[in-house]
Amino acid sequence: MSQNGFLAINEIFFSIQGESTRAGLPCIFVRLQGCPLRCSWCDTEYAFHEGKKMSLDEIIESVKAFPCKLIELTGGEPLAQEGCIALLERLEAEGFELLLETSGALSVERVPDSVKIVMDVKAPGSGEAKKNMWSNLERLKPGIDEVKFVVKDLADFEYAIQVCLDNKLLGRFEVLISPVHGALEPALVAEWIKDSGLTMRLQLQLHKYLWGPKTRGV
Ligand code: SF4
Repeated sequence: MSQNGFLAINEIFFSIQGESTRAGLPCIFVRLQGCPLRCSWCDTEYAFHEGKKMSLDEIIESVKAFPCKLIELTGGEPLAQEGCIALLERLEAEGFELLLETSGALSVERVPDSVKIVMDVKAPGSGEAKKNMWSNLERLKPGIDEVKFVVKDLADFEYAIQVCLDNKLLGRFEVLISPVHGALEPALVAEWIKDSGLTMRLQLQLHKYLWGPKTRGV
């Protein structure tokens, strides 16, 4: 557990899931503070340092105030705080359905089996591809967990294809291709996916279309 049984929480809010195959569903978000990565296109830099210490009980009380049983832990990088696992276990025991959005740079080994992991594989355009922990791919649960590539350009998309083929990801996992918002035209990526002949899912960040790319807490 983090310092004295507390976690550093950036924000807790109730919104519509904007990413993953659960996009469109009502969802509670628990955004943990801090991340050891610095992706070039990061859209949550405010979570690097802003936050407040909350106990597990305080977090549980906060999420129970919302009329929803789906929770996503996100960041920052949730797994950067040791207490993340205890939080997942507690939320699981409270009967929540759980999603964990993670960078793929830290081990998912201790994540409870009931949690759907949405794991990034960092493409070169992020500037953080060297941080990919490749052993994580072997720990993902086929048919349950999802693998996401945020792509900035065609080189990133081609990298995603290569990783999928090298690791036999397609057919075992939902593979999400997410164009960097404002930097790459989604329609172009749609054409690339069609031309590839591969079953990959174009993922748009729904919340940015609903509320604008800069709005926080949505
Ligand atoms: S892993 Fe996520 S939070 Fe961390 S720098 Fe990259 S995009 Fe931002």
